[in-house]
Amino acid sequence: MEFREKKRFKTRSAAGTLAMGERVAEMLLPVPKMFVLRGDLGAGKTTLVKGIAAALGAASEEDVTSPTFTLVHEYTGKKVRLFHLDLYRLETERELLTLGLEEMSEEPDALVLVEWGEKFPSVVERADGEIVIEHAGGDERMFYVRVKA
Ligand code: ADP
Ligand code: MG
Repeated sequence: MEFREKKRFKTRSAAGTLAMGERVAEMLLPVPKMFVLRGDLGAGKTTLVKGIAAALGAASEEDVTSPTFTLVHEYTGKKVRLFHLDLYRLETERELLTLGLEEMSEEPDALVLVEWGEKFPSVVERADGEIVIEHAGGDERMFYVRVKA
């Protein structure tokens, strides 16, 4: 896979990840775009989305909650409509179709961030890139932001 842009960040706390939202958000624009967020349970995917939502003025950090059961949360900012998905509980491509991910990603102002998107090859293929999060001991996390060419 060829990437047009690659960046690596390290944070030492959840607060550090929230604060990093701004720098990451810049890399995800201009919209429309879709990114897969990869990392274990508790890696910090949802925490990063909070930081990105706040940076884009789409929602405050507290208002962003995990869409584990609802599958999709939508936050409307001035310039960006943020769709936050968690596909952990989704099992089939058919369910994915019902969810309307394709329609979301076609909205002209959409930034679609998909936790557990790597479960579905169709999502990976469609995505404009990925953010990989790795535990680096204790509260340290490494973030790899990769934007496709
Ligand atoms: P995920 O969505 O990947 O399952 P969450 O963002 O929901 O992960 O949870 C991450 C958890 O790890 C939170 O409890 C958060 O406070 C904690 N944490 C500790 N250090 C960090 C860090 N550097 N970045 C993000 N979260 C961290
Ligand atoms: Mg999560």
